[in-house]
Amino acid sequence: MRRDLRLRDNVALAEAAGASDEVALAFVLDPALLRGERVGAPLVQAFFSALASLRAELRARGSELALLEGDFAEQLVGFAQRIGATSLYYNEDYEPEAIERDARVRAVLQSAGVAVHSSLDHVYFGADEVRTEGGAPYRIFTPYKRRWLDQHALAPRLPVRSNRASAERLLARAEIGATLALPEPEAYGHHSSAAYPSCSEAAARARLDRFLAEGGASDGYAVGRDLPAIEGTSRLSPDLRAGTIGIRTCVERARAAMEGASAQRRASLEVWLSELIWRDFYQQILRNFPHVANAPFHSAAAAIAWRDDEQNFRAWCEARTGYPIVDAAMRQLNTTGWMHNRLRMIVASFLSKDLLLNWQWGERYFERHLADADLAQNNGGWQWAASTGTDAAPYFRIFNPVLQGQRFDPEGTFVRAMLPALRSVPTKYVHAPWQMPPLVQRESGCIVGENYPAPIVDRSQTKVRVMAAFATMKANGDSS
Ligand SMILES: Cc1cc2nc3c(=O)[nH]c(=O)nc-3n(C[C@H](O)[C@H](O)[C@H](O)COP(=O)(O)OP(=O)(O)OC[C@H]3O[C@@H](n4cnc5c(N)ncnc54)[C@H](O)[C@@H]3O)c2cc1C
Repeated sequence: MRRDLRLRDNVALAEAAGASDEVALAFVLDPALLRGERVGAPLVQAFFSALASLRAELRARGSELALLEGDFAEQLVGFAQRIGATSLYYNEDYEPEAIERDARVRAVLQSAGVAVHSSLDHVYFGADEVRTEGGAPYRIFTPYKRRWLDQHALAPRLPVRSNRASAERLLARAEIGATLALPEPEAYGHHSSAAYPSCSEAAARARLDRFLAEGGASDGYAVGRDLPAIEGTSRLSPDLRAGTIGIRTCVERARAAMEGASAQRRASLEVWLSELIWRDFYQQILRNFPHVANAPFHSAAAAIAWRDDEQNFRAWCEARTGYPIVDAAMRQLNTTGWMHNRLRMIVASFLSKDLLLNWQWGERYFERHLADADLAQNNGGWQWAASTGTDAAPYFRIFNPVLQGQRFDPEGTFVRAMLPALRSVPTKYVHAPWQMPPLVQRESGCIVGENYPAPIVDRSQTKVRVMAAFATMKANGDSS
């Protein structure tokens, strides 16, 4: 198991149970990956919590999660030999490094006499399944979504049923033998926090139930999903990342909820489904154009001369830009391991356009601080905001953080909750505190430059800078 830490709606597990008399579940902890540059504490904690709940569920059924540590191939061959396994079943992962690793592991297992079977599980439709008439992968979301919906209408993929047989086929704990204790994130150099999301299959299913019954999806998701002060979205992203819920389950439940729903509720559910389709879209982009992992989607964008300003970058990371909606968003990320989608777009635009810093710096920072950090989604979101990607925002479109704040956090509820220095600032100034007259600054206990930073950039200048930088990309042409 890797990014599919659940027993229900799990394709590889269902296939293993369908083909074999006995099934054992194993997870390999890779210290190099867990300690590596590209993994952060919130993601590790989300995965470890999911592993703990999976192990508890298996133990309740008399089985065990075999936790291994070290080189994938070596560990899996050793485990297969120990329990006498003749086949390995796993779900695919589209990340370039995972593809390389899986090919290597497959070869080693096969040469050790273990048959290897892979399945498609983490996306609804695979990267080669939703294609243009000419058979090419889509680069633009809207036509991709249209084709995705047509295929879904013709042949929906229902959640994989976990029949009783799969439960009965789980290898008994005694036969799996002694296995590693679950480690703490600290064992790999990460600090855990009670504020980071934790994941379990039961909690994810309950979250989905709640969201569909009463949450944003009931009526207001189409609007509420843009308001960071309320819980207007499902917050299922860490579960979809760790695989404590299956994508087919989410899609099918959304479809079922549409039946007989009011027009307003249906519209909201359609918007939510559309977000799940974005997830498939970015996964197929990563699989079909793997260069995006390390470079802009459009090669012409490689010519953009990003500024090399470490101080500005640190201010962005540490919520000290002087723009409340940006700082509040970064505070949310740094303290909770999650950030609202609207805010991700705002801070990504601010970094790549207003500060003109390389979007990859922001992408790496998100990787290390998000519990849902996912190469495909994160890269897609950053390249969209930086106008270097597929279907990207036009480069001259720069989110104005003051207007975004006023529109999506009109009372300043969110920024005040995240930034105590702004607590008593009048609503009129809460998204632009530098505009407060000195007397109001004193009265509200927020002296700009003392209690809250002055803006690190003058936005009236940034547009000119962005236009000049992106002119090089235009001059080089759109190479996609
Ligand atoms: C710069 C940037 C970076 C991002 N990095 C990540 C990331 O590392 N991991 C991640 O899962 N999402 C990422 N997103 C997408 C999105 O912000 C999150 O998926 C969403 O905020 C998760 O909250 P939710 O589960 O409440 O979403 P909901 O609104 O309830 O949506 C349901 C699910 O749909 C998917 N989804 C929603 N919005 C998007 C989107 N714009 N693109 C792709 N899939 C989407 C997610 O799986 C999400 O859990 C990023 C967006 C941007 C702009």
